[in-house]
Amino acid sequence: MLTRFTAVLLTTVTLSAFSFQLSAFAAETPPTVSDSDLSSLLTIYKDFHTHPELSTFEQRSSSIVARELKAAGCEVTEHVGKYDQPGATCYGVVGVMKNGDGPVVLVRSDMDALPVHEETGAPYASTVTTKNREGKDVPVMHACGHDIHMTCLIGTARALSKSKDKWHGTILFVGQPAEEVILGADAMMKDGLYTRWPKPNYALAMHDDSDIEAGKIAIIEGYAQAAADSVDVTVKGAGGHGAYPHRTHDPIVLSAQIINAWQTIVSREKDPLDRAVVTVGSIHGGTKHNIIPDEVKMQLTIRTYKPEVRKEILAALDRIAKGCALAAGIPLDRMPEVRVSGETTPAMYNNPELANRAAAAMKVALGNANVVTKDPMMVSEDFPVYSLPDHSIPAFMFYVGAVAPEKIADSKKPGAATLPTLHSSRFLPVADTTIRTGITGMTASVLDLMKR
Ligand SMILES: [Zn+2]
Ligand SMILES: [Zn+2]
Repeated sequence: MLTRFTAVLLTTVTLSAFSFQLSAFAAETPPTVSDSDLSSLLTIYKDFHTHPELSTFEQRSSSIVARELKAAGCEVTEHVGKYDQPGATCYGVVGVMKNGDGPVVLVRSDMDALPVHEETGAPYASTVTTKNREGKDVPVMHACGHDIHMTCLIGTARALSKSKDKWHGTILFVGQPAEEVILGADAMMKDGLYTRWPKPNYALAMHDDSDIEAGKIAIIEGYAQAAADSVDVTVKGAGGHGAYPHRTHDPIVLSAQIINAWQTIVSREKDPLDRAVVTVGSIHGGTKHNIIPDEVKMQLTIRTYKPEVRKEILAALDRIAKGCALAAGIPLDRMPEVRVSGETTPAMYNNPELANRAAAAMKVALGNANVVTKDPMMVSEDFPVYSLPDHSIPAFMFYVGAVAPEKIADSKKPGAATLPTLHSSRFLPVADTTIRTGITGMTASVLDLMKR
């Protein structure tokens, strides 16, 4: 028989066990973004969105990132980064948050916008036009959501400064310029990011996602985004009258043959299980109907994952172009030139162990159903630069859903219009949910790597 005394005792024991479980749960759960935090962050986000800046011109955005990181308790350095162009200002920001000995974790946000005319109809839509690097007037819009990333960087710094009892070590908050032209990460490394500041043990970043529901985070383990190479090709011939083709070497016909022959690189030369793309994005030659020109110029983008596949494809482009030229009887001193330009970025490799660890922490913070997987993509990023060429610094980028769930459901109905993608003039994230989810995911990932 249960005496009254034992019943009271049992209740006390059960209750204290319950409260122990609660506090253990609280220790694992990152601080959530409060409504007042969110409203202040939304004001910052809308300000970024209304005032976008093109790649390498991020003066205003970087000064806001610097100001807010300082206010969150970071030691901040501005104008970090060196471009190759002499005298060019680089607007990189590094904010260091120190909390005793422990791991060093880098958290990166990009800051630049795109030459796109905004058509979202948002009350805070951009109406900015500005001069680009070539001096041409262009519209500007945060069509890739880097305004979301900057806001989440600030929100993560605020959340982590309030929870210093839960972690130890050093966090490097990086505001990176010029992601869209893949110059910014390189510029910051060239200016001593890993020598002037402690070299990180881990590097983390996020990107908003135009296919995933707001409130969810998507993970890709291993190779996630492709390496990109820009290739410039000059096909040389010998021009003349359009009515006397037999007295010329026509570089236009030759270019057509080269382009067709290149199609066999991906389809016939490469292992079908290795992902790769060869795209000729631009071709220019000639001035008039009846003139065979002296040369044709082409611009290509090459996307790969593995370094050895990249090398093979670049070599095949050159070999095939020269082989076609030889077959066309082009003299040896007029062989096609195939040049890889400076616009090159490595493939993004999400360290599997780090990705799994972060995913587990995010599932605790957001719920299992809100952390999903996603297929690898052929688009590129310069975030892998922080991982170093040998991937010796484990890096992980996750994708934060930015689309209202009902819009995703509508887009799946037969005959429905496709959703606006990143870089579209109509892409507008669901700001509050995306920002809250991004900060919760990033804070959970950092806390897990740095927990006491
Ligand atoms: Zn972009
Ligand atoms: Zn982007």
